[in-house]
Amino acid sequence: MDRDVSHPIRPRKRFGQNFLHDPAVLGRIVAAIAPRADDPMIEIGPGLGALTVPLLQHLGHLEVVEIDRDLIAGLRQMAPPERLTIHNADALSFDFAARAPAAGGLRIVGNLPYNISTPLLFHLLGQATAIRDMHFLLQKEVVERMVAEPGSKRYGRLTVMLGARAQARQLFTVGPGAFRPAPKVDSAVVRIEPLAEPLVPPHLEGSFRKVVNQAFSNRRKTVRRALTGILDPAAIEAAGIDGGRRPDQLAIHDFLALADAAQPAANPAVAKPDPSPDPLRTAGDAFGPVDTTLEQP
Ligand code: SAM
Repeated sequence: MDRDVSHPIRPRKRFGQNFLHDPAVLGRIVAAIAPRADDPMIEIGPGLGALTVPLLQHLGHLEVVEIDRDLIAGLRQMAPPERLTIHNADALSFDFAARAPAAGGLRIVGNLPYNISTPLLFHLLGQATAIRDMHFLLQKEVVERMVAEPGSKRYGRLTVMLGARAQARQLFTVGPGAFRPAPKVDSAVVRIEPLAEPLVPPHLEGSFRKVVNQAFSNRRKTVRRALTGILDPAAIEAAGIDGGRRPDQLAIHDFLALADAAQPAANPAVAKPDPSPDPLRTAGDAFGPVDTTLEQP
């Protein structure tokens, strides 16, 4: 189990491979996760096993999801199959909930490939009822967007869409030197805990997504102008929102009030149906299709 992570495998850029090698950082991440022997846990992107090995020292059993088939043989040598279940699969389409115990409580961890972190997060939030918590090492800027306060530069659709489903907390930052190869940016560890009840009721999910997307596509306009075509100024005021504010000054409950006003039944004159598929009919993802523009603040 003491595999050397300086293994001569050439990191693949397309799989976002930046392998952790700093024992102090690995120790901090494992301490933050605080694994208990019987925790049902899945690691995304185990790579050369930098995190897998110390996790296995605490857990009776671990599952991993790794897309790069060239890394699978190395992972197989790390522990017998009854302790380590290896899925050679794409985490973006992996059914995590199907691996959860009946009572839920799944724990998900990973040093995530930066290029897929946001869509992966939303794929996971679509299965949130099966998940107890998630600990991810991510690009620091993405973590800052997750935990941003209204009115700040980083506050945007990622903050609002995530905040409607989960609580996120930045735990600590990690410098580029902890990885091989070293990325150009700083990273941070985030803990994400799904809310027991999502803030947005199922019947408002489509309307909420539509309002949030359009508002932040026009984040420098006033709310009144940003939501043209979805809500008229009178409906915005009637929802209790000052239409002269900017979208990035609104809290999640403000977007919820706007989504309620904008849903077709409440506002047949101005609201147009959301052209994206009904989120309730989109298997496994209550947020509907992944919006990759979430990468932009
Ligand atoms: N956990 C290792 C570490 O900390 O050294 C590797 C982390 S590296 C940043 C990301 C890992 O995710 C790589 O092993 C990569 O092959 C894997 N990966 C990339 N895209 C993936 C995907 N769509 N599904 C599953 N694994 C993926």
